[in-house]
Amino acid sequence: MIYLKTDEEIELMRVANLLVGATLAEVAKAIAPGVSTLQLDRIGESFIRDHGAVPLFKGFRIKRNVFPNALCISVNENVVHGIPGDYRLKEGDIVSVDCGVKLNGYCGDSAYTFEVGKVKPEVKALLKTTKESLYIGIQNAIEGKRIGDISNAIQRYCEDKGYSVVRDLVGHGIGREMHEDPQVPNYGKKGYGALLRKGMCIAIEPMINMGKKNVKVEKDGWTVRTGDRRPSAHFEHTIAIRNGKADILSSFDLIEQVVQNN
Ligand code: MG
Ligand code: MG
Repeated sequence: MIYLKTDEEIELMRVANLLVGATLAEVAKAIAPGVSTLQLDRIGESFIRDHGAVPLFKGFRIKRNVFPNALCISVNENVVHGIPGDYRLKEGDIVSVDCGVKLNGYCGDSAYTFEVGKVKPEVKALLKTTKESLYIGIQNAIEGKRIGDISNAIQRYCEDKGYSVVRDLVGHGIGREMHEDPQVPNYGKKGYGALLRKGMCIAIEPMINMGKKNVKVEKDGWTVRTGDRRPSAHFEHTIAIRNGKADILSSFDLIEQVVQNN
């Protein structure tokens, strides 16, 4: 069941999603060698709660597994759903920070992969392509197209550059719930899948691997890592479908102001 949102609902979603962007920017200020992923999580959770919102991931269940933290923090070969902990960031790491909040009944969801200090050029290139693929997906997220047009655009862009697309995890509809219909894969066929209609809100989130596409779930039941342990990148925006041009509800503006000053 796909829920179409009214303009009023979309504005509430924008507020939630802008808080996600502000939270990621706050976390970005602290990203440096020696900082633990748990410290980043604490900064994020406090910021979310100080703004009257609830972190969506904390307490999120998949069957009997309960996610323990506010942010998913995934370093290097970890793709998504990393649990914050004692690991201290090192020069040359990449770290994906995924944040979800609920504010005034509506959800925001966005993710950004950060560089820690100086990163190898080939890893920088992976991040650049993954972020670009997100925006190429978004260009296809307009009324009258189909989910497969978004999926195919992301897949082609990344595979043409020699990267692989994670199949096991996908983007999703979003609204009052963090995960609504439809699913938004980062691979697929043009012209297939759900028709995009005005008022649909979806989270588009390419997860792109430098090596092979297969992934494994670690024993903690959450952390998804690449099978070959090569790096993976993840960028995510929540958007609303409109006529002519997608409306990006989350924002990287504050994040990138911080990143550029680091
Ligand atoms: Mg997310
Ligand atoms: Mg998401």
